[in-house]
Amino acid sequence: MSPSKVSTITFDSFHNIVDGQQRGGKEKHHGVNPATGEELWEVPVGSQQDVDDAVTSAQKAFESWSQETVERRKELLQKYCDHYMSYSDEMTDLLCAETGKPRQFAEWEVKGVALFFNHHMNLELPEERIEDDEKVLLTRYTPLGVVGAICPWNFPLILSLGKVIPALLTGNTIIVKPSPFTPYTTLKAIELAQDIFPPGVVQAIGGSDALGPMLTAHPGIQKISFTGSIATGKKIMAACAPTLKRCTLELGGNDASIVLPDVDIKKVAPELVMGAFQNSGQVCVATKRIYIHQDIYDEMLKEMVNFTKTIKVGAPGSGALLGPVQNKMQYDKVKTFFEDTKRNGYKFAVGEPDVAKGNGFFIQPTIIDNPPNNSRIIEEEPFGPIVPTQPWTDEEEVIKRANNTNTGLGACVWGKDVERAERIGKRLQAGSVFVNSWEKPTPQAIFGGHKESGIGGEWGQEGLKSFCNPHVLHTYKSK
Ligand code: NAD
Repeated sequence: MSPSKVSTITFDSFHNIVDGQQRGGKEKHHGVNPATGEELWEVPVGSQQDVDDAVTSAQKAFESWSQETVERRKELLQKYCDHYMSYSDEMTDLLCAETGKPRQFAEWEVKGVALFFNHHMNLELPEERIEDDEKVLLTRYTPLGVVGAICPWNFPLILSLGKVIPALLTGNTIIVKPSPFTPYTTLKAIELAQDIFPPGVVQAIGGSDALGPMLTAHPGIQKISFTGSIATGKKIMAACAPTLKRCTLELGGNDASIVLPDVDIKKVAPELVMGAFQNSGQVCVATKRIYIHQDIYDEMLKEMVNFTKTIKVGAPGSGALLGPVQNKMQYDKVKTFFEDTKRNGYKFAVGEPDVAKGNGFFIQPTIIDNPPNNSRIIEEEPFGPIVPTQPWTDEEEVIKRANNTNTGLGACVWGKDVERAERIGKRLQAGSVFVNSWEKPTPQAIFGGHKESGIGGEWGQEGLKSFCNPHVLHTYKSK
């Protein structure tokens, strides 16, 4: 296999990538810069023909890519990482434009991808050998075939390349579909990949939401790796059933954070706030409910409010800690949580925030002081910078309250008594529980949800298996 070279890279024109080539389309759409409300560059809307051609190319590429050694696949992944990182400044600019993230966080995401690459370079596919008197059993993990990656808009690079890296390492080929809200960095990253990988190994088709069902229905695709909302996840699982595609669903959450009475209030208050408002609350594992022990409730809330008031919200490059909400649809959705809070007379601990500033989708972060258990802000994921706090006194009761949700993605427990915090953490029904930290997923461990937060998981050594079939060779000893 020899790598193909498709282009000189520019960062102001965007194409789908099919069979190693840049492709336009009859229809076009564009993202919107959420900090200014201005339209960004045109991108082609992928068609059924594009999907069919990409699947044919991916199937052909799979024949040889799946037979390459893991060492060779890692070698090309490392080259890809170096090539991608040589454009890290341009990628950061692009990510700022499409998401509105403050530059330091856009940079963190762009460079975070390199950590994903690096971590995967140290992973090996497990092999298990069992021998008895009559036979040897060899359990290996072999690639599935063509993977369809359907991605969201909150971390467009990490959440697309976080699928590409393990899929390619395990010998699959992959077609990536970015969110229509954030097509730019993904299309460009996959364009860069064409300088390294043979045609068809990694492709990208952007477009409308209509493109997702074309991937989920396609009989030539063996797995869908999806990150996005619970509602879409359910549709995807149903759509995968007729072809019995494997699917990994990384969905939404309503993470609880439990604060024990012994914490250092001044230290923990800003951490609790950042756990809720990082990336303007648009994080699947952002803290979405904060349970503070009654003994420290007032003082902790006061410190959290003080810190929240210092948070500057603004455009990338303005020195702001938080950027805008990424798109108008989400901005309007988050505002309904503010309206619901007002209508029901729940208390804004930070004062009533300004939700409409300039043309960008900016929202000042806020905290809702002790709304009832059946309020929307307790029961639903707002995916924006608004979080409720409630007091607790009884450990058993607060564990029940934290677990009283259809979701189970992440959770946190804070306490100087680490043993107690871990004991509580072990009883929280969530895929990733953090003790004395807000939610910080890492490529070092599998990431996945319990309950309606998902099926299966990706990342880490264990996550590699989600891109594989188990393959057992039973060899009987010659008689
Ligand atoms: P979304 O479900 O609206 O869209 C995600 C992707 O699915 C997009 O690419 C979209 O075009 C595509 N899509 C839409 N309809 C489809 C269909 N019928 N079939 C196939 N694909 C379809 O989600 P979003 O608004 O982009 O992302 C926000 C949600 O994602 C939040 O709920 C958040 O918690 C969740 N999320 C989860 C994780 C995780 O790892 N668990 C990470 C980030 C975001």
